[in-house]
Amino acid sequence: MQKKDELYRGKAKTVFHTDDENLLILEFRNDTSAFDGEKIEQLDRKGEVNNKFNHFIMNHLEQAGIKTQVNALISDTESVVKKLDMIPVECVVRNVAAGSLCRRLGVEEGLTLNPPTFEFFLKNDALHDPMINDYHIVSFGWATEDQINTMKSLTFKVNEVLTALFDQGDMILVDYKLEFGVDVDGNIVLGDEFTPDGCRLWDKETRNKMDKDRFRQGLGSVVETYIEVAGRLGLDLN
Ligand code: ADP
Ligand code: UDP
Repeated sequence: MQKKDELYRGKAKTVFHTDDENLLILEFRNDTSAFDGEKIEQLDRKGEVNNKFNHFIMNHLEQAGIKTQVNALISDTESVVKKLDMIPVECVVRNVAAGSLCRRLGVEEGLTLNPPTFEFFLKNDALHDPMINDYHIVSFGWATEDQINTMKSLTFKVNEVLTALFDQGDMILVDYKLEFGVDVDGNIVLGDEFTPDGCRLWDKETRNKMDKDRFRQGLGSVVETYIEVAGRLGLDLN
């Protein structure tokens, strides 16, 4: 596997072509951003921790029968993934009210959502990732109705699998964001990442925040806490 030219540099990861046209390399950097890139810091070892964490979670989801981009971990901060034609929407599932849901609807943080709720956001930093609905997605051609239904059912399947996994580590999976893409065979496949940067995790007992809210809210010990999350799932990143 040979690393070729840079395809895209995002806020937290850099994407490279490889000598295989169906594979890419994702490099997880230490850059950590919040509030649409307004707050940016480099956190020591975060790239390595998220790269290994993401590989672990994607493998766990594969074992549960969910198609993901996973291919191989090739260095501390790099993974080979299937090249996907990314759908420019974010799929968010919420088991407990937090973040933008509370700001938008005035509900109290911590309210359990039964059943869990689902939201689509457009991936567009300049527009601050606005919330969109299924009709917008079809009208603007970002995905078809079938693809929307597949993304929803996969996002809820991920919820079943990961709620149980984090529960075993005495954590509550509050909410999370997924991104999907289309592979060479036309399948909808989970791409991007699943790390504490893109979800909310609370300690079951104390409700302490164990995710990127530690960075957003300046609570400190960001990477140390991500390492603890991994350790509770049986992944030693010390
Ligand atoms: P952002 O674009 O939000 O700043 P990142 O820094 O995480 O995000 O950049 C990673 C980029 O790579 C994102 O635009 C994401 O959609 C894209 N990407 C993630 N996984 C894949 C994949 N398997 N194939 C193609 N593109 C991907
Ligand atoms: N999220 C993300 N990237 C985004 C927007 C949201 O990873 O661009 C995640 C976020 O970490 C949280 C969930 O999606 O786990 C819901 O985020 P919310 O809408 O509450 O926005 P926030 O207040 O976190 O900006």
